[in-house]
Amino acid sequence: NIKLSEKNLKISPSVTLTIDAKSKQMRAEGIDVISFGVGEPDFQTPDNIKRAAIEVIENGPTGYTAAAGLPELKKAICEKLLRDNDLSYNPENIIVSNGGKHSLYNIFQAICNPGDEVIIPTPYWVTYPESVKMADATPVFIECTEENEFRLKKSDLLAAITPKTKAIVLNSPSNPTGSVYTREELEDIAEIAVKNNILVVSDEIYEKLVYDGEKHISIASLNEEIKERTIILNGMSKAYAMTGWRIGYTASALEIAKVMGNIQSHATSNPNTIAQYASIEGLRGDQSTIEEMKKAFDERRKYMIHRINQIKDLSCIAPKGAFYVMMNISKWIGKEIKGHKINNSIDFAEVLLENTKVAIVPGAAFGADNFMRLSYATSLENIKEGLNRIDDFLNK
Ligand code: PLP
Repeated sequence: NIKLSEKNLKISPSVTLTIDAKSKQMRAEGIDVISFGVGEPDFQTPDNIKRAAIEVIENGPTGYTAAAGLPELKKAICEKLLRDNDLSYNPENIIVSNGGKHSLYNIFQAICNPGDEVIIPTPYWVTYPESVKMADATPVFIECTEENEFRLKKSDLLAAITPKTKAIVLNSPSNPTGSVYTREELEDIAEIAVKNNILVVSDEIYEKLVYDGEKHISIASLNEEIKERTIILNGMSKAYAMTGWRIGYTASALEIAKVMGNIQSHATSNPNTIAQYASIEGLRGDQSTIEEMKKAFDERRKYMIHRINQIKDLSCIAPKGAFYVMMNISKWIGKEIKGHKINNSIDFAEVLLENTKVAIVPGAAFGADNFMRLSYATSLENIKEGLNRIDDFLNK
């Protein structure tokens, strides 16, 4: 009968990780599952990065590093920000953490007070609202529609701002929608943020995965005023196929970085030393594997878009980045499929998993119940087979 933390009792588990775990377990039981639930590249970490890690394991140093990250890695991150994003930071502005998710946690812990509001465009990555709540702040959602390619409209942003607004979360390219913001849109958001004294949490972890000639622009690079107010979140997971290595980082104004560094110094100390050394090689070494990975993703993306739009009563718009497609299932809501009533995206996901052994994350997890998120971080062969199964089940 012990009373646990009320705030944290309200935190829900990550639906995407749950679906992933469920399909992995089914596979372990010998069931032929096709999973569109994955949130990680299905590629090996590049060899040069692995070799750098092996070298450190064999010859050291393998002890603690500075709690907020190895100075040399912070330097490599600054070089990357300058090279890729036209942003000039010093190592003191950088905090290296145990993955982007941990960086996100640090950010809200550092900037939020009870009652603060954080604006989150919907559909959102599952972790945003929960990490805001863990910092005693309140998520405020703005719905972004498929008609607007799931991007935030200036008028909607202006309408959501109150005196309590502390920050807005921007995720371009986006998980789950794949949308990429244009320079003009970023300029509008930046202007509003500066005018209203709001911080921008800019999650750029999918920056390397943009297609159709799109270009990733960091909002912080627009001008000095917005740079001061932006906390960039990035990491090694998606661009270097290093999800399990757990290295993420932030770049921010010094006063914010200091608070995050202090929190981290007591919460976790430094992120894994070996993974940090390997990340230096990742950032400074040969970058050609990113292009190869991107090419494979793009081929799958095109196939998936084409195939979904061929299936009766399903559709999707073309995402411009990351490795996800938002499939519109609104025509199936309220209908019955082979005796199963579909009231929402969770019903749709359950019926599909049970009957076709295809695992997809319901849009409800991202605050978008008329959609399902399909990841194309799986082989073209799996994508073909999975979508064939769905087509057969729904329409035959
Ligand atoms: N941001 C977004 C939008 C993501 O999708 C993810 C991973 O799924 C992350 C951040 C964090 O990734 P990691 O904690 O593996 O670095």
